[in-house]
Amino acid sequence: MFSMMSASRLESLHMTQDPATGLRAIIAIHNTQLGPALGGCRFLTYPDEQAALRDALRLAQGMSYKAALAGLAQGGGKAVIMRPPHVNDRAALFEAFGRFIETLKGRYITAMDSGTTSADMDCIAQYTQHVTSTTSAGDPSPHTAMGVYSGIRATAMARFGCDELEGIRVAIQGLGHVGYALAAHLHAAGAELIVSDIDQGRVQLAVEEFGAKAMPTDELLSTPCEILSPCGLGGVLNTESVTRLRCSAIAGAANNQLANPEISDALQARGILYAPDYVINAGGLIYVALQHQGQELPAITAHLARISQRLTEIFAHAQADKRPPARVADALAERLLYPK
Ligand code: NAD
Repeated sequence: MFSMMSASRLESLHMTQDPATGLRAIIAIHNTQLGPALGGCRFLTYPDEQAALRDALRLAQGMSYKAALAGLAQGGGKAVIMRPPHVNDRAALFEAFGRFIETLKGRYITAMDSGTTSADMDCIAQYTQHVTSTTSAGDPSPHTAMGVYSGIRATAMARFGCDELEGIRVAIQGLGHVGYALAAHLHAAGAELIVSDIDQGRVQLAVEEFGAKAMPTDELLSTPCEILSPCGLGGVLNTESVTRLRCSAIAGAANNQLANPEISDALQARGILYAPDYVINAGGLIYVALQHQGQELPAITAHLARISQRLTEIFAHAQADKRPPARVADALAERLLYPK
């Protein structure tokens, strides 16, 4: 366990179990250099404890990097609750988790993530104030979409020398909470949309509302376009798919788009400009963090503008140093997280 913690430079690891409710939870606090650790709480079935631990460590590290480059006074952390085969009283389980978070005295702030809902966050909120994304807090997805939209404009500027999107073909994979809202922004800016989703109802809506061209999911990655925008699942950019791409740039909301770090080198070799996912999709985190700090919407919206500024900075460094933007982003984040 300590070797795993060292490998990801994890600050501290906290675990609890509560036989009465079936709660078995891990909280990984990766880095608090810039502020208290903030990160979602997963409630999933894991094959074993090692898998749950690995998930918590990996995701906590990602949150530190994302918060640092988003310019937030926030560190990175993540919680993983191992979902029991039978949940007798879900509310009681999350209330017990709220009591556990409270013992950390604000070093970790939780949020909604895979498998958890805003109603679960409400249960947690009965026992601690260190919780975001409750039912009264509102959906962060529109802010993520707005951040991705401004990031796409910054990507277009870096790749084509112009951030006007009129007539630019953008292929969106996934029309969920973020992807559909992004499609609306892009359509309003005059972009030509090519869309795919495993849910044909979402595709049909985009065709009718935005005049989008529908594309089968297995063909979207190889469709000719200026910008590919992955907004579905992670891991879409892998050794196989990279050879099929026919885009000039990639800028989308999905987390962990690169199957491994070496994919960023392969994209660079192919001349495809990649907007690092955790930089361009930070809008939701910015919303959640600033809202928790008590800031109002105008201040939050102003902070969202930092996404395109940060991307522009990363692209400029990447071009000057002839390095992939993803590697430049990691190095920038590490400079903030581990000052000499
Ligand atoms: P969502 O579940 O609402 O939407 C995902 C959509 O992708 C769904 O409509 C789904 O049918 C579709 N999809 C899944 N697999 C697909 C495939 N192979 N091809 C085409 N479509 C596919 O999720 P979301 O909240 O819109 O988030 C989208 C992505 O952005 C996720 O990777 C998420 O982790 C990431 N993200 C979201 C937020 C946020 O604020 N919601 C913030 C940061 C990152």
